Amino acid sequence: MGECIRCGNCCQDVRLAESPELLEKAYFYWKKSKQIDPNFSEIYLIYPMLEFLFEEPDVDLPYHYRCKHFVFKDGLATCSIHPIRPRMCRDFPYYEGVKLEEEENVSPYEGCGYNI
Ligand code: SF4
Ligand code: SF4
Repeated sequence: MGECIRCGNCCQDVRLAESPELLEKAYFYWKKSKQIDPNFSEIYLIYPMLEFLFEEPDVDLPYHYRCKHFVFKDGLATCSIHPIRPRMCRDFPYYEGVKLEEEENVSPYEGCGYNI
């Protein structure tokens, strides 16, 4: 098992199954109703931090975003909200319920330290 080498690729290119429209809809629904579905709660948290980049319709996680909390500090890729970053970031690249084939890379990012 490798470790993060702080290349910053995963924060500059966050890949999700949810479109910007869905994230926005869910966020404003939550703002209005204050109802949180625990199975879907991260959407409310992550919508304000992401900037949409582009869509790749033929892949599993087609929506690409850049995180607004990503910075370079002293030449190193850094999360400016590290202590309170959302669960998708804390758990990356290991996700509950996701089983990989033996030869499959654990991280979808080329050069990611977890694939070494
Ligand atoms: S892509 Fe991998 S090595 Fe690069 S910052 Fe993300 S977790 Fe770390
Ligand atoms: S919150 Fe931090 S760890 Fe998560 S994507 Fe943004 S910069 Fe990366």
